[in-house]
Amino acid sequence: MTKAYGATAADRPLEEMTITRRAPGANDVAIAIDYCGVCHSDLHTVRGEWGGTLFPCVPGHEIVGRVTAVGADVTAFKEGDVVGVGCMVDSCQHCSPCEQGLEQFCENGMTPTYNGDCEEAPGHTLGGYSQDIVVSDKFVLKITHPTEQLAAVAPLLCAGITTYSPLRHWKAGPGKKVGIVGIGGLGHVAVKLAKAMGAHVVAFTTSESKREDALKLGADEVVVSRNAGEMAAHRGSFDFILDTVAAPHKLDDYTGLLTLDGTLTLVGLPDSPHPSPNIGYLIMGRRSIAGSLIGGIPETQEMLDFCAEHGITADIEMIRADGIDEAYERMKRSDVKYRFVIDIATMDA
Ligand code: NAP
Ligand code: ZN
Repeated sequence: MTKAYGATAADRPLEEMTITRRAPGANDVAIAIDYCGVCHSDLHTVRGEWGGTLFPCVPGHEIVGRVTAVGADVTAFKEGDVVGVGCMVDSCQHCSPCEQGLEQFCENGMTPTYNGDCEEAPGHTLGGYSQDIVVSDKFVLKITHPTEQLAAVAPLLCAGITTYSPLRHWKAGPGKKVGIVGIGGLGHVAVKLAKAMGAHVVAFTTSESKREDALKLGADEVVVSRNAGEMAAHRGSFDFILDTVAAPHKLDDYTGLLTLDGTLTLVGLPDSPHPSPNIGYLIMGRRSIAGSLIGGIPETQEMLDFCAEHGITADIEMIRADGIDEAYERMKRSDVKYRFVIDIATMDA
């Protein structure tokens, strides 16, 4: 039995609830959770914006905590280790994507940390807005950041890997001009990562108030996307643009900024479609629109090690467990600087 925060229906606020976790099996790691980041996907899911939400819904997939017990066959972790859990807790482990370490694309369906099928009650997975979790050792990550940074490490488990993976796949680095659209939870980490990879980084924001911050995060240039003149100055110049926006918007604004063979990759998944893109913009310049989903477990460990080496964490605002709904409302208004993190210790208060 463990305390958690979740919702019983899409139109209900989150409330404290008691949930059960399985006893650790031979390959399991039991974790006492210290911090859990608040991702916009949590909000989309718990409010039913994507459809298919299973209730009760306990969100949370940016988990950092300490190992409290390990199963008999676990060798990589021991009691007391500081560890992380991200967006997945299981996959088939034998299909081609799993064998390549791309568990997020498991052909038999990976198990998301929350809202995924599982055998234990209530029949679907319950996430990190809770005091404890039990996870198969293959889906547990090692954390080497200093202890005082752990709350700010939590968002790397989703916001970090979701931006690191496409930045690597589309080869952000020296000599490349990279745009990051939407300076929220994902976007602000993406700016730091792209800069650390050596790219020339341009941040696109709808919020004039984030202009100075984006420069401090490491952007070489900032464009307020509502300003047509500022946008036009970058026409035809980007190798890669990563779009993290959680709401429908005109993709043409960004495909038109790509250079020859440039790619606009979408990671934001709004609850309703973007307006259809102008195909002419894609044909002229052989430009692409692509998508990307989190990242595999080996790459997530690589990202955590890269961040530890480069001193990268998220910029966070710590909240109490009973403040999650208020944080959701602020996130909906783009009023987040730049990731809310739940101090799980407040569930005891
Ligand atoms: P977030 O913290 O709310 O940030 C989204 C940012 O998008 C906002 O801060 C805002 O930045 C911008 N924005 C919001 N509404 C906008 C609008 N109407 N027009 C233009 N810009 C707008 O959200 P997040 O946690 O980073 O997540 C972003 C999206 O990625 C969500 O849809 C989430 O579900 C999705 N996601 C996908 C994956 C994946 O694997 N593909 C993983 C995690 C999350 P500015 O103020 O700078 O404009
Ligand atoms: Zn997430």
